[in-house]
Amino acid sequence: MPCLADSIRHIDSSLQELVAAVEQAPSLALMILAAGQLARQLAVLLVQEVLTQRAQQPTEWPTCPRCGARLRSKGFVPRQLTTLLGIVHWERRVGRCPQGCKIGQVAPLDEALGLTPHQQTSVELKQAACALAVFVPFETAVALLNRLLALPVSPSAIWHWVQEAGERAMQRLHRELEQLADGQPPAAEPLDEKTSAQPLLIGADGVMVPFRRENGTPKGRTVWREVKVAILARLGQRTARSGEQVAHLERRRLVAVLGDIDALRPRLWLEAVRQGVCQAKVVVWLSDGGRGFWNLYAECFARYALGILDFYHAAQNLWKGAAAWLDGRTTQARTWFDTMRHGLRHGESNRVLDELARTLQLEDLPASARATLQQVYNYLHTHREHIDYEKFKELGLPLGSGLVESACKWLIQQRFKGVGMRWSEEGFNHLLHLRLAWVNGRFDTLFAPEPSPNC
Ligand SMILES: [Zn+2]
Repeated sequence: MPCLADSIRHIDSSLQELVAAVEQAPSLALMILAAGQLARQLAVLLVQEVLTQRAQQPTEWPTCPRCGARLRSKGFVPRQLTTLLGIVHWERRVGRCPQGCKIGQVAPLDEALGLTPHQQTSVELKQAACALAVFVPFETAVALLNRLLALPVSPSAIWHWVQEAGERAMQRLHRELEQLADGQPPAAEPLDEKTSAQPLLIGADGVMVPFRRENGTPKGRTVWREVKVAILARLGQRTARSGEQVAHLERRRLVAVLGDIDALRPRLWLEAVRQGVCQAKVVVWLSDGGRGFWNLYAECFARYALGILDFYHAAQNLWKGAAAWLDGRTTQARTWFDTMRHGLRHGESNRVLDELARTLQLEDLPASARATLQQVYNYLHTHREHIDYEKFKELGLPLGSGLVESACKWLIQQRFKGVGMRWSEEGFNHLLHLRLAWVNGRFDTLFAPEPSPNC
């Protein structure tokens, strides 16, 4: 009777011990692990066999880029590569210039396989390691690779791959921004009919990240720098367990930059165009009081979008007024605040503004309370178009900028603000752009072969 274990044993002597380990495993868990190792070793042998077959085929030698002479074979030379399966060995023909031009060894098979001359690790392994590094610290990524795939990879190797891939992401963005500035907007991401009918929500905020004072050394105090983060999402609905329809964000896309509003502006606009800001039936801008962001709204989005001032932030300002005028510990302050907040929430923002104006007329108002109340009045008056919360609620729109806060938490807090973490500008930027690529569904394209320049 043919037996799988026996046939595998006969493939290669290196497999005998691995088969035995499966056969002798005392528990199912150990049996699975041993079989997994066997499978990987089998896979390596298969890949090596196919590579060896390809290497045997006749080589079409290119011409020397210096003198134009056809390269000449110097015979078979071994090559090895660390892959997701482990180390793969094979031999392939290399050629040199017959005139002795210093162009090094040329291996046409390597090129056909998508390998560069000094590459030591294959792309799918770098891709897996970078995907882990998107979520966990480099040391943890190393431990996971080791545990899941028995691959000994160093933290510095993963760090290096992240720099490479992050740099590609940044260069791609840079090209897109240049094209946008040249009047070539990006193609819109395809949307199905249902999604394109949903409101497009846009919000932005800033978040602080700890940086090293000097690159390359942990010495010196931490420098906190602001990262601007924006989110774009479609507002959909889903059925909760209770059967109720609840708001649900779909097609979340994030934009972020270590820099000021001027750096955020073109990046956010680029993504907004991609997400259909000019075609969407309803566009909503959500933000708290940060003046820079509202200027950005006025410059870029006011033509398309309805602005909503974060309700909780507006209410917080009313409380500041109440506390300054009536003393925050009194029932009077609480009652006044509750009435004002209720009015603001339920379509009486004009009455709230009138009440603030009337209070400012009081003759016995202390100067400091007057200053605070005046600020609150100016703030709400500036935003009078953005505080019609009753109407926004009727339209099914969110009243708060919570979506931006969650975006900041996921994008920044979770990965960049771990205990003791401090970043170099470059290191931060590279990983940030990998995380952005991941969340925006463009991670895998960073590892796809680059289209050759001649086609
Ligand atoms: Zn030559």
